[in-house]
Amino acid sequence: MNQDRVRGSFAGRSLAPSLATPATESPAPGGTRAACQACGSGEMQVFYRLEGVPAHSCLMLASRQEALAFPRGEIELGFCHDCGFIGNLKFDPTLHRYSPDYEETQAFSPRFRRFLEEVWDQQIARFGLGPGMTALEIGCGKGEFLVGLCERSGCAGIGLDPGYRPERTRTGAADRITFIRDFYGPPYSHLRADYVCCRHTLEHIAPVFDFVRLVRETIGERHHVNVFFELPDMERVLRQGAFWDVYYEHCTYFTRGSLARLFRANRFDLRRLYKAYDDQYLMLEAQPASQATDPLLPQENDLACTASLIARFEKKVSDRLQSLRETFSRCRASGRRIAIWGSGSKCVSLISSLGLSRDLDAGTLAIVDINPHKHGKFLAGSGFEILSPDALSSMRPDIVLVMNAIYADEIRGDLASRSLHPEVIALI
Ligand SMILES: [Zn+2]
Repeated sequence: MNQDRVRGSFAGRSLAPSLATPATESPAPGGTRAACQACGSGEMQVFYRLEGVPAHSCLMLASRQEALAFPRGEIELGFCHDCGFIGNLKFDPTLHRYSPDYEETQAFSPRFRRFLEEVWDQQIARFGLGPGMTALEIGCGKGEFLVGLCERSGCAGIGLDPGYRPERTRTGAADRITFIRDFYGPPYSHLRADYVCCRHTLEHIAPVFDFVRLVRETIGERHHVNVFFELPDMERVLRQGAFWDVYYEHCTYFTRGSLARLFRANRFDLRRLYKAYDDQYLMLEAQPASQATDPLLPQENDLACTASLIARFEKKVSDRLQSLRETFSRCRASGRRIAIWGSGSKCVSLISSLGLSRDLDAGTLAIVDINPHKHGKFLAGSGFEILSPDALSSMRPDIVLVMNAIYADEIRGDLASRSLHPEVIALI
């Protein structure tokens, strides 16, 4: 689950092909002709561009050759001044290849497991999930969130994801969970559930309005249904200049306000809209309404703030790139060794943006990850091999660059248990 999935129906991880095509013409260079996928406005302001970006960053590649030859695409982030939506205007869904080789889970991290447990408990308590009820998860990934929800609450479950791997599921609740290895789309609008969740999937979908409309149509007149969406928060990325959180797999980006406007326009009423996981994630809880609803929550009023952050983003990114380039240059010059901890999308984006390469950095740079399913596989674009943290015992890095600061404490603990005490730099 997480980090990506609705298609077959929607571009990205869970949509139908008919909805997966870009709905816009390519804008003129530097221009703003593209239509907003969220509100239909005809004006999107381009504010950030990247070329030669690997089209996937969580797909595990078996050989370096395959990783180096992996398709690349362009990123051109556009901002809608009418609704606050941000999307990659150059996104090409035909470059996407979601499959069981997609390795997105973060559940090998104790910190992430604690977060999952909090979300399970909160959702079950808030919505009274229990026996006799059915939870539908759109873009369920490997199924771990849905399985936990069903195990803890006693409810039944339906999970949709083309990347689901049945051999990974071990649960006593198996007889009441159905997994469908496909993208969510109109063929599944008949599914009936009492609770619909969609985590780290919307950001992989280009036609966001069509997608949320389909979710609403799937619910129909069942007005008791509760809906929960979880996705990255773009406000933090803009505020921090966190360029490593912009990558090809994520074709759309939301703040609290733009997410709320999308749901309200599609006949949802919002119950809760908040941030979680050190403010990295946006959480939305909604119920169906009979018509579009008006904004009521103060945190929805963020359009002017987002526009102001957009205006400063390029400069912030430039400053952060410069600082990181200097770090890597100093290390190369002095022969110091760097290990990047975390091989997911943030890592692929960082390597791509900094132009790190095996030619330049072989012997002084290693990529490690705690997910054993990634070990021995290769990163798209750069071709770096992903190693187990066990490799650090012989490498003895001088610096460990932590791709997500929320894991810094557990990584320091892991390093200490190996009698390693490098300088730890955590990206925020
Ligand atoms: Zn818009």
